[in-house]
Amino acid sequence: MRKLEDAYLHKGLRKQLVDLLRTKGITDEKVLEAIGAIPRHFFLDSAFDRIAYEDRAFPIAADQTISQPYTVAYQTQLLQIKPGEKVLEIGTGSMYQTTVLAAMGAKVYTIERQKQLFDLTPYYIFKQQYTDILFSFGDGFEGLPELAPFDKILITAAAPVVPEKLWAQLKVNGKMVIPLDEEGAEQRMMRLTKKKDGKEKRESFEAFSFVPMLEGKTSK
Ligand code: SAH
Repeated sequence: MRKLEDAYLHKGLRKQLVDLLRTKGITDEKVLEAIGAIPRHFFLDSAFDRIAYEDRAFPIAADQTISQPYTVAYQTQLLQIKPGEKVLEIGTGSMYQTTVLAAMGAKVYTIERQKQLFDLTPYYIFKQQYTDILFSFGDGFEGLPELAPFDKILITAAAPVVPEKLWAQLKVNGKMVIPLDEEGAEQRMMRLTKKKDGKEKRESFEAFSFVPMLEGKTSK
């Protein structure tokens, strides 16, 4: 594993990123605090060391991407995380978003369908720092029924529909944040709140661009 160092340079760039997210409309101080605390460059190849704090998505292994910081902040803000909540995340990817949720005090259950990415998770030093994360290799469309229900569900890939099995694993009054495909290059960010009768209250937000949520899992 490469040596990880959080230098003054990184800290300075991270502070600038937090300021930028503020100007872009992120207001939840807890979210900004988490982004300010977590070294994003730890989750990227060392080639990205100096540009890791630009507000951009970058490639990671298995042709996937680490989400743009604005997107991570935006989705996390919509989730309204409270310490101790059980959060199911679909699409572990680089583990950056996972760690932001854990830093906010959530108990995170995260699923990744790419074996190559899942196999990298033991190497993240944050796995030791945040012990309230459970990593799972599998198809996120199935969720984790044995560990349900969840207070919040976050989907970090573009979903073609609201996955039925995931909806069933959400608590009443729970919230799901999901980029829903609207037939095109972009997806609409939605926040769905589960009402007492099991039906959804739907709120629609900005358009984003995510890699697709795919069925099944890879074998290698
Ligand atoms: N939260 C991640 C985003 C990674 S991109 C980060 O910030 O790094 C989306 C991820 O979702 C990819 O790693 C992709 O492999 C994964 N994914 C797509 N469909 C999935 C599914 N059905 N179940 C689990 N993971 C899925």
